[in-house]
Amino acid sequence: MSMNIAIDGPAGAGKSTIAKKVAKELGFIYVDTGAMYRSLALYFIRQGIDKDDEDKISEAVKDCNVTIKYVDGQQQVLLNDENVTGLIRTEEVGNMASASSVYASVRSKLLDLQRSLAANNDVIMDGRDIGTQVLPEAQVKVFLTASVDERASRRYKELVEKGLNPELNKIKKDIEERDYRDSHRENSPLRQADDATYVDSSDMSIDEVVSTIVDLCKNKM
Ligand code: C5P
Repeated sequence: MSMNIAIDGPAGAGKSTIAKKVAKELGFIYVDTGAMYRSLALYFIRQGIDKDDEDKISEAVKDCNVTIKYVDGQQQVLLNDENVTGLIRTEEVGNMASASSVYASVRSKLLDLQRSLAANNDVIMDGRDIGTQVLPEAQVKVFLTASVDERASRRYKELVEKGLNPELNKIKKDIEERDYRDSHRENSPLRQADDATYVDSSDMSIDEVVSTIVDLCKNKM
């Protein structure tokens, strides 16, 4: 039986950075489910669909085929056979992903893909509903969070390092809006699973968080 680790938490909590390192240390596959929602969001943007138009989004999602592959250990997301991995990290795509992931049609599109990856591989999967909906039987579940200020400042630094000129207040507002939408939606809201370990990374180093999670996993292996 494969071993599954579920990492859920709000935007900017460091889930992907941490999950990649844990995956490397344990020899697991890292599955980034946010990237799957982002690839669908890119499709909706390209089609000029409004984020609030559930009917059009539910129609459009039928034309999407999302698959993933690994190149040098890195997850690549394919949308209708096009590798869109390099196109989905923008704020525009992130905001569309957050808005469109509230719809049941969008969520059910990705569920089988996520579950079959976990059934066939030892995975560490990150997202919002992995421990609660996608992999309720995961052997290890972590709810990883950090304060809004800390998450906004991490994102701000990331963008500055990329040579951009971001506004801290705008980033904070986007994060707050996304947190609200992710945790108040009807379908698979972001919430801590009853059996998940709560980790607040606000005052922890990346290595401290990684070793906390690796220790949780080693106890179950
Ligand atoms: O994690 P990331 O910021 O890439 O995710 C983009 C958006 O996709 C999130 O804001 C969230 O609304 C949605 N998402 C989700 N369920 C997941 C992963 C992501 O609803 N399992």
